[in-house]
Amino acid sequence: MAKKSGKKTVKKIMKKAVKNKPAKSAASAVPREIVLKNYMEDIVKRNLDDQLQARSDICGCSRCRMDIFAYSLNHLPPKYVVSGKGHIFTKLQEMEMQFNADVTREVYKAVEFIRTHKRHE
Ligand SMILES: [Zn+2]
Repeated sequence: MAKKSGKKTVKKIMKKAVKNKPAKSAASAVPREIVLKNYMEDIVKRNLDDQLQARSDICGCSRCRMDIFAYSLNHLPPKYVVSGKGHIFTKLQEMEMQFNADVTREVYKAVEFIRTHKRHE
């Protein structure tokens, strides 16, 4: 009796070394395909810009801005969505209306915190 040699399906797992490059300007990067996006980042960024513009007693250096940005995001729920090209702006406006009160409050608190805990040089 001859044994039938079964086909072996070898699954090769291709490991792609994905390096996490620090995105210098995530907001200005234009998504070409399907992207995972945390809308909260955009909402906070816009809100932060507004609040910083309206006040002259806050240091606007990049270190302080990023500190305020991080502090705010840590106190707000992430809003991840998978989105294709084109939907992002409309969706952002919807979410901005929905969360703006919370974001304004958290950004304000972040500004107050960073103002008294400056870490810039
Ligand atoms: Zn500063």
